[in-house]
Amino acid sequence: MTRVPVRDDLSALEGYHSPQVTVDVRLNTNEAPVGPPAAFREALAAEMSRIEWNRYPDRAATALRTAIGALHGVGPEQIFVANGSNEVLQTVLLTFAGPGRTVATFEPTYQLHGHIARITGATVVEGERAADFSIDMDEVRRVVSRSRPDVTFLCSPNNPTGGVDSPSVVRELLALSPGLLVVDEAYGQFADWSAVELVDEETPLVVSRTFSKTWSMAAARLGYLVGPRWLVAELDKVVLPYHLDATKQIAGTLAVRFLDEMNERVRSIVAERERVITALRSLDVDVFDSGANFVLFRPRNASGRAVWQGLLDRSVLIRDCSGWPRLADCLRVTIGTPAEDDRFLSAITEVLS
Ligand code: PMP
Repeated sequence: MTRVPVRDDLSALEGYHSPQVTVDVRLNTNEAPVGPPAAFREALAAEMSRIEWNRYPDRAATALRTAIGALHGVGPEQIFVANGSNEVLQTVLLTFAGPGRTVATFEPTYQLHGHIARITGATVVEGERAADFSIDMDEVRRVVSRSRPDVTFLCSPNNPTGGVDSPSVVRELLALSPGLLVVDEAYGQFADWSAVELVDEETPLVVSRTFSKTWSMAAARLGYLVGPRWLVAELDKVVLPYHLDATKQIAGTLAVRFLDEMNERVRSIVAERERVITALRSLDVDVFDSGANFVLFRPRNASGRAVWQGLLDRSVLIRDCSGWPRLADCLRVTIGTPAEDDRFLSAITEVLS
């Protein structure tokens, strides 16, 4: 069979890589270390037996959107849901980016922002963060005035660096950016404030969130955004009909009933994060502040790649960012259970000694 050419602009594009190898301790993809409560599993099993499998699911996912909206004090018409926040971002970019349009990111940040934007055919302009990976307003002014982006991304807490943008940073970006501002809050529950409070009908702002982290539901692939009604209506036109299957709609609707349990998981992960940061700071590594469920660090006197391999040899898998632009020698560890974090800390102590 003859291969037919892919689009010219896609031929140079690389896929998204996150190696999954079999290890004892997996701390590389920022998932929750424990599953959802047993009562959730039981309720889900009971609801699953009532699904009308011969029928399409509720196309508007009304129950789910209403339940998520209630979490944020808004109605279902301000909530857009999709298969993971990646699909949320893809739908935003299909609607507001695409050929002839420009998307701005501030690097290093979540790789998929630029990646999905390029797949839609948009031009991606990469601004630089400051040396401590915070947003540099002079750089924002430069990028925005030069490129007039149709879509600008912030990621708060930022993956993979962990920092949280303050309300004043988000407000300044809103004032400066001529187009839509997307704040990716995949790790938002770990931060002390949310840009959702800035969302209203007059502001070109959307805030995306996911069930993959704090809700312990990465397997379900469910994400959403909070935005102005008019904008959510535009996204509804673009996304495929019936994109959200019945099981996922039920799973998400049930999950939010376990808000207290989710908040409890967040509290224990934050306590673990502080313990891991303190322990790492006693080693020969530079540690970046984190408002998320992961920590970025850089060995001072060893190559990041060698440390990553040393951990893997001890059956501990973390994320190797050492070859990524602007992140030379950096490694990112997801906060796990206390036992997993102990395994990681003793392995890295051994590797560095
Ligand atoms: N945004 C950020 C910043 C992320 O780190 C991730 C997951 N790695 C996502 C979005 C995508 O999450 P999901 O598609 O699982 O909702």
